[in-house]
Amino acid sequence: MFSIDKIIRENIRTLTPYSSARDEFMGTADIYLDANENSIGSALNQYNRYPDPLQRQLKEVIGKLKKVSAENIFLGNGSDECIDLLYRCFCEPGRDNVIICPPTYGMYEVSANINSTAVKKVPLTTSFDLDEKAVFKSIDAYTKIIWICSPNNPTGNDVNLTAIENIARMFEGLVVIDEAYIDFSPRKSCTDWLNKYDNVVVLQTFSKAWGLAGLRLGMAFAATDIIQTLNKVKPPYNINEATQQLVLKALKKHKATLQVIDELVAQRNYLELQLTGIKAVEKVNPSDANFLLIKCAKSNELYRYLLGQGIVVRDRSTTLNCENCLRITVGTAEENRKLLKAIRTFYNR
Ligand SMILES: *Cc1c(COP(=O)(O)O)cnc(C)c1O
Repeated sequence: MFSIDKIIRENIRTLTPYSSARDEFMGTADIYLDANENSIGSALNQYNRYPDPLQRQLKEVIGKLKKVSAENIFLGNGSDECIDLLYRCFCEPGRDNVIICPPTYGMYEVSANINSTAVKKVPLTTSFDLDEKAVFKSIDAYTKIIWICSPNNPTGNDVNLTAIENIARMFEGLVVIDEAYIDFSPRKSCTDWLNKYDNVVVLQTFSKAWGLAGLRLGMAFAATDIIQTLNKVKPPYNINEATQQLVLKALKKHKATLQVIDELVAQRNYLELQLTGIKAVEKVNPSDANFLLIKCAKSNELYRYLLGQGIVVRDRSTTLNCENCLRITVGTAEENRKLLKAIRTFYNR
């Protein structure tokens, strides 16, 4: 059975967290002289007050949208902050390890290295799906986190949900499901499992479907004891006031975002069809995200040719099992037409 006490780092379990002025007084008052803010104001006529350290208003709205209660939500300065905090809360440097399934998002390994945590690699199968048996085999007594990215970056496909659930059911550490691209996928979010599995952490972000990468807001959904642990360790004011206000504004226009998602998915399907029709493109990996991983002839030359045409894609050819692969983010209709034209010109030279 999963228990947070078995996996939390001892220094974090016993930590007395920083208590900010806004933690100690949460009511409303006429005069605030408790936080050494600038009482006169700023040149911008706003933002002179510290933001809500627990982002209560934002979590209420996000909770309604995601059908998750606010106490099961943690907000990070991008999901990258959530990734780092999970290491700092649960992985004892120099002792513990995590499992990742490459090719996958690079931050799981970089964050592990920063936090002196060993990484066990269990490659995805040739169809870029989870190798469930191999994941089980590589678990040991010091394995704290299994990172699963679905839809996976850089391959684009969703991985087998049943396999993820089997792992969540059996593993006594955390199973983190990174759903950065879930809004482009037809499947349901694993937030549905929060009532069933105490060890599941679901990551989502405002950087992709919501189009707000510049604001830096990531979400972690999990059991309350995990959320409380993350809150203890995070910097007191990790989400700035401008971000909180602007994301609230975007949430009010949720329908506009749904339209953008439909358009991006339509563009992705169009790009996939067109790319599949180009002979030198050997493979277009099925995508549930807003990008396509293609395997193609002379991928490195194509990459540099596109750069010369002012088009930058991501060269993934040095990543495990991604030889000759480029990762292409879906653009606007016009950008996609220009991209296709440039690729066709390159191969017809
Ligand atoms: C882009 C991306 C993120 C980063 O999200 P931020 O919220 O911008 O930090 C996380 N995970 C995956 C798989 C991504 O591709």
